[in-house]
Amino acid sequence: MSTTPAATPLVRALNVIKTFGGHQVLQGVDFEVQRGEVVCLLGPSGSGKTTLLRLVNQLETLTGGRIWFDDELLGYVERNGKLYVRKDRDIARQRARIGMVFQRFNLFPHKTALENIIEAPRQVKGMSKRVATAEAIELLDRVGLADRANFYPSQLSGGQQQRVAIARALAMRPELMLFDEPTSALDPELVGEVLGVMRDLAADGMTMIVVTHEMAFAGEVADRVVFMDGGVVVEQGAPAQVLGNPQHDRTRSFLRRVR
Ligand code: ADP
Repeated sequence: MSTTPAATPLVRALNVIKTFGGHQVLQGVDFEVQRGEVVCLLGPSGSGKTTLLRLVNQLETLTGGRIWFDDELLGYVERNGKLYVRKDRDIARQRARIGMVFQRFNLFPHKTALENIIEAPRQVKGMSKRVATAEAIELLDRVGLADRANFYPSQLSGGQQQRVAIARALAMRPELMLFDEPTSALDPELVGEVLGVMRDLAADGMTMIVVTHEMAFAGEVADRVVFMDGGVVVEQGAPAQVLGNPQHDRTRSFLRRVR
């Protein structure tokens, strides 16, 4: 018998159900992410991957089930076996610990790269302009854009904008990064630079959940891949196992289509 307690996962989802107007999009998803782990979520369009990410970041509310982040229930407080909705301020505190990068870069168009990055640390964390700027410059350097600090989004390529979006999320010093198809809106020649930044982040030990159709990236960078279809997790495991030797027909037919 092992005496070492298993590490608590950073994210734990239990029987997660999400319904949009009578359409049950997530049908009881169980899902865990350990600290430092990179998990790629794969699956056909409409299988519920984005919805799962948005639930983790509380951009959607649960229809059923529970999600814990660092042992704290997301969105709810449990007292005497009853669930109470968290206060907005408490939800904002939870959300500040999680960074998210979207398919579309969502930068403020009237702000420079640097101004985009310092916005949340200044507004949400009350960081001084001097400290926020120093950190933003470091982050821009980390994503290879030290020389683009004063450029506006319209003056940057899609790949550069997405790298600024990653730097902006990192500026909140998140404990978890969520990526929702971060390269799918990019011209093919710009995909590599964004995946490169994500690869570096993973190598630095960031905990990441990545929704992607980039199978090579998933195979190389993920510690675990989770294949979803029809609102359930069909199979999951090491990339070599799931991508190389899938056990389910649905996984096999998906992989045939995307490769
Ligand atoms: P995936 O990321 O795997 O493509 P999504 O989570 O985006 O899947 O979507 C799963 C299903 O939920 C789709 O059928 C989609 O149309 C539906 N859906 C997602 N968001 C909403 C919403 N806000 N309102 C209604 N239906 C939605």
